Amino acid sequence: MPTHPVLVVHGGAWAMPDDMVDAHIRGVNNALAAGWRVLNGDRGGSALDAVEEAVVILEDDETFDAGRGSFLNRDGKVQLDALIMDGATLRAGGVGCVERLRNPVRAARKILSESPHVYFVAEGAERFAAEHGIELCQNEDLIIPREVERLRAYQAAQSVSKQDGNDLFAPTSHDVTISHDTVGAIALDRNGNIAAATSTGGTLNKAPGRLGDSSLIGCGCYANNESAAVSTTGWGEPIMKLVLAKWTADRIQAGNLPEWSAQEAMNYLKQRLNGHGGIIVLNPEGHIGIAHNTPRMAWAYKTVKKEEAGIERTSMQ
Ligand code: ASP
Repeated sequence: MPTHPVLVVHGGAWAMPDDMVDAHIRGVNNALAAGWRVLNGDRGGSALDAVEEAVVILEDDETFDAGRGSFLNRDGKVQLDALIMDGATLRAGGVGCVERLRNPVRAARKILSESPHVYFVAEGAERFAAEHGIELCQNEDLIIPREVERLRAYQAAQSVSKQDGNDLFAPTSHDVTISHDTVGAIALDRNGNIAAATSTGGTLNKAPGRLGDSSLIGCGCYANNESAAVSTTGWGEPIMKLVLAKWTADRIQAGNLPEWSAQEAMNYLKQRLNGHGGIIVLNPEGHIGIAHNTPRMAWAYKTVKKEEAGIERTSMQ
């Protein structure tokens, strides 16, 4: 039975300052428009194509921590992670710690479509991408002055804090004022299939080789037609430990609505590991959930009847 398409995107969850709100809303709206053109065009594209196109727009937008303009790791390099997953077949493609791809989600999609494997990291992922027609860039092409300055300021504060014997800036103590601008998209197409994609530069000043939740199946991204499509953002280590995207999908498979399940996931993240972040959720019936336990989250969604974008949504819809 044909279904009405639905698309939801996000661009991170944290205490976004007022002067960054417009850029975030503009960014998620642009991604929504691009994904919707695929999903609701004449040919009624697939959910998988729609989430890929939406995430490409977000990766290309320097507002977000994905693609060019991402946070720098401790060595001053951009290292990117991304995952895309098809809820109909459970096919998935992931890349981790890539340094020479402008759009890691494109490489992830190639893995999903053209490889018997599911996940590639570092040079092996870049080699796979190049062999499948994706142009490699230099790491410097992904670095922007804003992020060089952000890393410099962070590392300077860290060394002052260490001299004072203060552990405030240790990598394990995160607070919501540290930006989390990971991006993601989830979609339902006319054939009733759902899909999800998440892409990130990870966390500021991360150790080289550190992989977050975003590109791990069931942690930062998940899609299964029997339950839900999910994308998360936030402090990755707690999200990973809780396998939070799959945890949320399981609640939906058990009969709960996405609205409730998304909020429950944020409560669980906070209560169990004092984690923070945001989540978008969609079931094959087209019900959506958007929740965060941070002051703000950039999100936007569109259905055939309604379109909305925003920055604050802390309670159940
Ligand atoms: N979850 C991402 C990570 O830990 C960061 C983020 O969402 O901004 O890599």
